[in-house]
Amino acid sequence: MIGDSLGQHVIGGFIQSFSSTYFCRFCEITREEFKSNPSLTKQERTLESYNRCVLRAGLLGRTYKGVKEGCELNSLKLLRATSHLVPCIAHDLFEGVVSWDLAGIIAYFVHKKKWFAYKLLNDRIKNFKCQLGIDRSNKPAFVRQDGEKLGGHAVQNWILVRLFFFLIGDKIQDLHDPGWQLYIQLKEMCELFCAPAFLKSDMPYLQDVLIPTYFEKRKVVLSEEEYPLKPKHHFMAHYPELMLRYGPLIHLWTLPFEQRHSFFKELMRKTRNFINPERSCAVRYQMSFCYATTSELFNEQFVEKKTKPLSSSSFTGDLSEYLSRQNLDHWFDCEVVSVGSTKYTKGEILLLASRSYSELEIGIIKVIATQENSLNFIVEERKAFYDKDLAVYGIELNSPGIYSTHEYSTLKYPVPQPLYIWREKSFLSLKFRLVQCDIGEDDL
Ligand SMILES: [Zn+2]
Repeated sequence: MIGDSLGQHVIGGFIQSFSSTYFCRFCEITREEFKSNPSLTKQERTLESYNRCVLRAGLLGRTYKGVKEGCELNSLKLLRATSHLVPCIAHDLFEGVVSWDLAGIIAYFVHKKKWFAYKLLNDRIKNFKCQLGIDRSNKPAFVRQDGEKLGGHAVQNWILVRLFFFLIGDKIQDLHDPGWQLYIQLKEMCELFCAPAFLKSDMPYLQDVLIPTYFEKRKVVLSEEEYPLKPKHHFMAHYPELMLRYGPLIHLWTLPFEQRHSFFKELMRKTRNFINPERSCAVRYQMSFCYATTSELFNEQFVEKKTKPLSSSSFTGDLSEYLSRQNLDHWFDCEVVSVGSTKYTKGEILLLASRSYSELEIGIIKVIATQENSLNFIVEERKAFYDKDLAVYGIELNSPGIYSTHEYSTLKYPVPQPLYIWREKSFLSLKFRLVQCDIGEDDL
């Protein structure tokens, strides 16, 4: 069952005040234990220990070890309050840990290091162009000048973490500064927490190395008085074990459901009928759902834009030569193609393979070729190398690229990535860490 922490605690019968001694639904850690060792997680709650707490809470007439009352869902055969109330990384990580800690890191750069001012950062955010790919619809929000937390919602905060280097990297005077190193580590943790697939063997590194060192570095940069550790930091320490238990946490966040709110808001705005809004919303939503599931529009495999017959003479140089060797009969060239909700545009990047974390094989989309039910991408193959000081991938463009054709259905990572130019160099900033492509499935 998905939900934010407060919702999950209400459903599970856990305490709803996160400032209390026992604030965690996953374990019985106390606030003092958490403050003295932020990366500590205790043995997970079991149904037996939970039931004991419910019993004691009933006898004492108050909460006991974070449990307020029993959970009706426990009477179901397959649902347990102790093991089925999953975390939401949108609320806990991006609107919690990232929002507070990155705001603190920025305040450290502004006030302590005096490397830039909030106005400069916000001016750059205002003028930053997220023209292509996954970042097109979500620009980072302006950063609040009080330094308390970031100004955006979860996805905007996620984008700010990813693109922070492109926004203000030139003002960072020392890449080994503890503040910058803390940011790099926060970004690395986000990439691991958001991975749609991960290696079980990465989890000990995350649990025993990355998270403890993050809290160590955090202590140096962010003072406990100004930026106190909060329960969401503790929930983050549970993520490695929760990833092993539930799989990729990105599939358990609540945002797809929250996005539905926009449908109802838009509906009320357009109909301006407030006599029985619940009924209006329910009926119109069902009608929309029926349309989406039965309309022919949604049965189309690909939706193309700006289409013309594909011909090698429309291109120049090596690409034209490559195309002249292909059979292009009945193929069309289009500028943009949509497959479901994913849009591909020429110039975007496809991730072809990941031999290691530090080296990616990528393809810059040069031609989008379609033919009835077939979709091929003709790409210029390149290598991208991870720069650990900048926390982004630099794309090698010096040598001539090799052209190759990739059928849509064979893409291992079907989400196109935007390419960013910074100081005349090309970069890539991933949303998540890729697993190596030549690994056995048993290890995933
Ligand atoms: Zn815990």
